[in-house]
Amino acid sequence: MEGCIFCKIASGEIPAEKVFESANVLAFKDINPGAPVHILIIPKKHIASVNDIEDQDVNIIGEIFIAAKKIASSLGVAEDGYRVVTNCGENAGQTVQHLHYHLLGGRSLKWPPG
Ligand code: AMP
Ligand code: ZN
Repeated sequence: MEGCIFCKIASGEIPAEKVFESANVLAFKDINPGAPVHILIIPKKHIASVNDIEDQDVNIIGEIFIAAKKIASSLGVAEDGYRVVTNCGENAGQTVQHLHYHLLGGRSLKWPPG
């Protein structure tokens, strides 16, 4: 998808601090971390948001959560706990229109988020 910053990260055009990569999924450090551990997990394929997930994407979405648990374990937050969230649309504050799941941990997180 032309002009999409996360597609550019997925293709290597823009650098990122990668922490996990598989055929369909990429995870990298958030550039503006909101917690000691703040990772973004994305499908390499351009999907704009949760609203745009299609039936054929079911495996990719599953792979994202398998990646999440592996990343949490490798970064040492699996035991203490962490959060995996995605913002969809304006009211949720989605700023990048390429599906991404935030993995947040390393501190006690408030609920519900603001
Ligand atoms: P959201 O507000 O849910 O759309 O989250 C977008 C996230 O992407 C924010 O937490 C940003 O800090 C992060 N972000 C934007 N550009 C980059 C980038 N080039 N590399 C890493 N993280 C980024
Ligand atoms: Zn994209």
